[in-house]
Amino acid sequence: MLLPLKEFICDKCQGIIESPQYGYLQWDEFDDENNYRRARNFQIVHNYPHSEEDCLDYNKPSKQLIDFLNPDSGIGALLSFIDYGPLIQNNFLFSRAYYTREIIELIRRLSIPYFEEARDYLTLALNDDYISTNQYGIYNPNTLKSIIEIYGTNFK
Ligand SMILES: [Zn+2]
Repeated sequence: MLLPLKEFICDKCQGIIESPQYGYLQWDEFDDENNYRRARNFQIVHNYPHSEEDCLDYNKPSKQLIDFLNPDSGIGALLSFIDYGPLIQNNFLFSRAYYTREIIELIRRLSIPYFEEARDYLTLALNDDYISTNQYGIYNPNTLKSIIEIYGTNFK
């Protein structure tokens, strides 16, 4: 089982990122139809030389994974992708993150213990009636841990 909020799965090579120090968050930036600078295609990836492949794309904006994990600047940096806040953007105009669902999934991966590993098995657990679609239950770390214990096959 992965160490929660310490080990992550690389979105490029699918290998384990064994420490937040060995990972980066990368994304694409583009100008939307209103000429607002937006971000999408977020990926948690290995940084050089911690994988055999070039998981980190040096042409993309990126930042060390540790910067998005509490107790450092974590949740503050992540939430800025949804709303810069009134000091930076007086009236709310747009989220920096283009896809709300995508940024929320990333925030879950970086802030809810066991979510990173359990998310691969949520559909299985739901189809088995092991969990229901109760939004408080699904994201409970104890539930997520037991889902990994029952359904986990990737990182035994
Ligand atoms: Zn990788």
